[in-house]
Amino acid sequence: MSTIDWKNLPFGYLKTNCNLRAHCKDGKWGDLEVHTSDEISLSIASSALHYGQECFEGMKAFRGKDGKIRIFRLEENAKRMQQSAEGIMMQPVPIELFMEACKKVVLLNQEFVPPFESGASLYFRPFLIGTGPQVGVAPSKDYTFIVFVTPVGPYSKTGFNPIDMQLVRDMDRAAPLGTGQFKVGGNYASSLRASERAKKEGFNLVLFADAAERKYIDEAGPANFFAIKGNKYITPQSESILKSITNMSLRQIATDLGMEVEQRPVLITELADFDEVGACGTAAVIMPVKKIVDRESGKTYEYGKDGKAGAISTKLYETLRAIQYGETEDKHHWNTLIE
Ligand SMILES: *Cc1c(COP(=O)(O)O)cnc(C)c1O
Repeated sequence: MSTIDWKNLPFGYLKTNCNLRAHCKDGKWGDLEVHTSDEISLSIASSALHYGQECFEGMKAFRGKDGKIRIFRLEENAKRMQQSAEGIMMQPVPIELFMEACKKVVLLNQEFVPPFESGASLYFRPFLIGTGPQVGVAPSKDYTFIVFVTPVGPYSKTGFNPIDMQLVRDMDRAAPLGTGQFKVGGNYASSLRASERAKKEGFNLVLFADAAERKYIDEAGPANFFAIKGNKYITPQSESILKSITNMSLRQIATDLGMEVEQRPVLITELADFDEVGACGTAAVIMPVKKIVDRESGKTYEYGKDGKAGAISTKLYETLRAIQYGETEDKHHWNTLIE
């Protein structure tokens, strides 16, 4: 695969050797299948197409300086996909099947794992769809689980550079007791209007207020929100945000670094008191934030000096990256080594 320009990879899709699939019929999972085609054949009446029975995961594998490939937090992603599946009445994928599929798909696509020096990685997209024909509203009886991989460059072309956010109150991503905590395609459909408007108005990310009272900070578009205040790592507690595994890892790293971690409802008015603000997720690990504009009031909050990321966000980012690339001790056993 010497034709791939590793240093200029976009965060996009590139066809690889193969993807892995398994089908569930009447509650029974079949064996893993290797497919070289990247297309699927589906009933025109399948529940994924009409009633949104689709959930997915996103995780990454990294090639270290030692040449070894490490998948970051494989088991946590497997567990979360089960929760998402149950959240929209789909047949959950057994943890072992999920993990086996992910390990196998890397082995069969090894030449697509970017070299260490490139700063790129291999992105996994495991997903589950209801495939049974369903015209009346009900969960499908049949499901298909697929995992494909694609090499990706950094999420943002500008690298670890601070971004601008737009706080909105006139559109919601998820209802307080809805499906916001599950990684389902439907949540993305409902967030697109706000995020595209934010982009049109010159912002990188939208920041949603809580849908019930619009007093608290909820989800940062496709990422979790966090803030640093003194020696504290602060992140919202909410029923409608996705439980980011990056956020979970950053909380542990913050604790390891001797910081205090607060997971609690975060008032919008607190934005004025934070030293650093960021959005976190698998794609970028951390997107440091330099400015948040409240779309309703025009009030602006600014962070960092000279448009640079804060020292603590930088430290958290570098520590997590070092674990992913096998450059520092993986003391919490987050990596699955592929050999
Ligand atoms: C996937 C996702 C995140 C980030 O989760 P990670 O496990 O850290 O990748 C955050 N918010 C939303 C809405 C997501 O879909």
